[in-house]
Amino acid sequence: MPRDTTKTGRAMPVRKRIVLIAHDNKKDDLLAWARFNRGTLGSHDLYGTGTTGSLLAKELGLEVTRFLSGPLGGDQQVGAAIAEGRVDLIIFFWDPLEPHPHDVDVKALLRIAVVYDVPIACNRATADFVLSSPLLEREYAPVASIR
Ligand code: PGA
Repeated sequence: MPRDTTKTGRAMPVRKRIVLIAHDNKKDDLLAWARFNRGTLGSHDLYGTGTTGSLLAKELGLEVTRFLSGPLGGDQQVGAAIAEGRVDLIIFFWDPLEPHPHDVDVKALLRIAVVYDVPIACNRATADFVLSSPLLEREYAPVASIR
């Protein structure tokens, strides 16, 4: 039976709630990307996992609401926030070359983002495309494929 595709009932506001996460080997990359895009990021509401959020706040002076650190449950908190409709966009520079103790949490986060049709950029090129999308400055009603 084909899967029913329904609207999630939530529309993304113009001012997006953006979550930023980077694994340790990717934190420098995320920081460099965020520095380049600081102006754009600053006009949205920013969230981050513990260490990533602290770095962005300290190095770039951005206001970042912090979840717990990823290995201590931060990724799961982000997943829950997605399910509750509190996240519009995720920039997640995960490390494809190292195993992590919380790999299952990472997988769960990627899964729930897809379930709720939340844009999730996992590398710099995708993040560039997402941040330069005209949709970033507009309301947008995502369509989630939920049974
Ligand atoms: P951190 O968590 O920002 O606290 O380092 C990121 C992660 O490992 O998922």
